[in-house]
Amino acid sequence: MNNKKSTLRVGIVGGGISGVALALDLCRHSHLQIQLFESAPAFGEVGAGVSFGPNAVRAIAGLGLGEAYRHVADHTPEPWEDIWFEWRSGRDASYLGATIAPGVGQSSVHRADFLDALATQLPEGIAKFGKRATQVEQQSDRLNVLFADGTEYPCDLLIGADGIKSALRDHVLEGQGLVPQTPRFSGTCAYRGMVDSLHLREAFRANGIDEHLVDVPQMYLGLDGHILTFPVRKGRIINVVAFTSDRSQPEPTWPAGAPWVREVSQREMLDAFTGWGDAPRTILECIPAPTLWALHDLPELTGYVHGRVALIGDAAHAMLPHQGAGAGQGLEDAYFLARLLGDTRTEIGNLPELLEAYDDLRRPHACRVQRTTVETGELYELRDPVVGANEQLVGEILATRFDWLWNHDLDADLTEARARLGWEPRSQSAIRQE
Ligand code: FAD
Repeated sequence: MNNKKSTLRVGIVGGGISGVALALDLCRHSHLQIQLFESAPAFGEVGAGVSFGPNAVRAIAGLGLGEAYRHVADHTPEPWEDIWFEWRSGRDASYLGATIAPGVGQSSVHRADFLDALATQLPEGIAKFGKRATQVEQQSDRLNVLFADGTEYPCDLLIGADGIKSALRDHVLEGQGLVPQTPRFSGTCAYRGMVDSLHLREAFRANGIDEHLVDVPQMYLGLDGHILTFPVRKGRIINVVAFTSDRSQPEPTWPAGAPWVREVSQREMLDAFTGWGDAPRTILECIPAPTLWALHDLPELTGYVHGRVALIGDAAHAMLPHQGAGAGQGLEDAYFLARLLGDTRTEIGNLPELLEAYDDLRRPHACRVQRTTVETGELYELRDPVVGANEQLVGEILATRFDWLWNHDLDADLTEARARLGWEPRSQSAIRQE
């Protein structure tokens, strides 16, 4: 174990958006020694879009990644620049409303472009590939992560950023005396594809559909399904995700061993959206070779930390994509930890307190995002127990539904964490809340 004045060795397992973003910030601090371990032979993301709410865009900037992000990011074009999504009926594309994200609109990237932009900034030697973490050994003065290739890495702090199928999660939960949690199938599958925007424009023109629906992010809502589109790669490509849900089983299961992602025929996808209107069907007809994703999430965990091991991102709170918030929560985790760990007052002696603050302040929020994401999916698919198929009301509710998530004050959480560490006086509001 390092003594008080020496460098803190931080191991990060998993080189997705959460792990790489955290590593990039932490490796700028001379009191920290960072090593990131990725099981794959190289960084890699799927060829699809990912969108970020205003909270995630702030976290990206706070992690010092704003410029790299702006370089690859798309946003809703003027004069609709503040629109996140327009909501439309899946039957006839009639307008139900819009959600405004002032100053941000729909901010999105091609995943692979974003991860590349981040990975190229990582200094040489920080990332090690082909390192599949299998086990953690933790005693009071010793912390070791073991890899499938027989090697190990001793460290002072270990971060599990290893995604929904996390290998580190069991160590954290078992360490707390909790039962291991595995991903659960949601009953919802998503067809995904990327469409050349010129091709879509031509198809819309040929079918007499307003081209506004190409330029501005759209969400088409229907019973047990919804379809979203937003532009990526500077508007040259339209990212399409078409969701379909089977709600007949209270606890749906995905066949053991079946892949979560597979190639499917366009016919299968079109059949899943029989009866939908011209606009959504024209979009799907432009995707000759879709992939099908079986969407899984995690139950809300009762702890993200055991000793000096902490979970971030999907390893802690994998959620359904219905609020476009999963990667954003991982970035908020990274920002929160980076601001505390990057502080030179962090030392091995106060790591337990620091991680306790992380767990106390981040977990309830991330759990709420997980929970409301499921509810939001029900709203989109006209299955909300109160609102049901009242499309106009759905549109009205969606206009402000995401404000709490996007306006969350992460810096206030950090102020509270610093107060708990004795680094700053406590805010009056935090004292009043007790
Ligand atoms: P991951 O991206 O899963 O990265 C984990 C990394 O760890 C991988 O590189 C993996 O190879 C590595 N790894 C795994 N096990 C080990 C091991 N044992 N040892 C070493 N390395 C290991 N989120 C949004 O914010 N906005 C969106 O618009 C959005 N859209 C989505 C659409 C769909 C259809 C889906 C399925 C998800 C969407 N999400 C979205 C969620 C988002 O994709 C995830 O929340 C995010 O990618 C998680 O990032 P992560 O770095 O935590 O985990």
